Amino acid sequence: MVTVTFLGTAGSTPTSSRALPALTVEYDGKLLLFDCGDGTQLHMIRRNVGLPKLSAVFLSHIHADHTAGMAGLVRSLALNKREAPLDIYIPESGRSGIHALLEYDRARFEYSINVKPIKGGTIYKGRGFEVSAFKVDHGDTPTYGFVFKEDDRWHFMAEKAASTGLKEGPLVGELLKKGSVKVNGRLVLREDVAEMRYGVKVVYVTDTRPTASTVAAARDADLLVHEATYANEEHDLAVKRKHSTAQEAAKSAQKAKVTMLALTHISARYGTRKDLMSLLREATSVFPNTIIAKDGMSIDITKDGMSIKMLKTNKVSDKL
Ligand SMILES: [Zn+2]
Ligand SMILES: [Zn+2]
Repeated sequence: MVTVTFLGTAGSTPTSSRALPALTVEYDGKLLLFDCGDGTQLHMIRRNVGLPKLSAVFLSHIHADHTAGMAGLVRSLALNKREAPLDIYIPESGRSGIHALLEYDRARFEYSINVKPIKGGTIYKGRGFEVSAFKVDHGDTPTYGFVFKEDDRWHFMAEKAASTGLKEGPLVGELLKKGSVKVNGRLVLREDVAEMRYGVKVVYVTDTRPTASTVAAARDADLLVHEATYANEEHDLAVKRKHSTAQEAAKSAQKAKVTMLALTHISARYGTRKDLMSLLREATSVFPNTIIAKDGMSIDITKDGMSIKMLKTNKVSDKL
């Protein structure tokens, strides 16, 4: 199961209900953080999204609303005696900026921090999944979107294999790996007794005009998380400031044939329920299965479906 949690869904400035951008993807005990706005570590603690599980950080671009939280986060990890190395991915042009945040007070870290430039394509491989990056269009600021993809896997179908005499065991493992095995002198092909199960795909795109690269990367995704900084009436501003409207995000979702679209990077100007409903209507008129993300919203995703819950705020424990 893949769990996507929204820690911050504001755009540019926080509001009383929306923190600056940060999203986690949890899979098989590993936690990946995408963007790290000011206060992200606090929101992780409050929402019980375990900091110690943090494996890697992916920063879409250098703008402060997406990166400023790194300064505090790496120091808290050090104070909590982290030993495992931490990889931080950021566009090449943002490298010196992130180093400044990491080093400005000459803090000493007992764990190693590896800042790695994003070059596009697959940038991180974990057990059973990978993360890839693709270029988007945020004007002069190099910016990347990210794809989390669970590995596709062959699944043995015992009933299909009944006539071959092949049963669960090491031979099945060999068949799934190699593509064929001999059973009682007969060749059994993988595609005859197994089916491919496609892994969950989640795409995160923020601070960009709608792009063909987004549509290509999000093809058939289970969840597309896309920025929606503006409503239709501010379309000119979206073009000028290199952001997207909610409806443009919906058009990308429709073209990519994703299962669900979650809008994020919501401007402080859309603070009332009425404003948000209107933003949502503009999107759902194009792509009905759209939601507006909220801070603390957590989505469990498997190939059988999704379930959305709101995480309670943790007031009991101060432990990381
Ligand atoms: Zn932003
Ligand atoms: Zn930006």
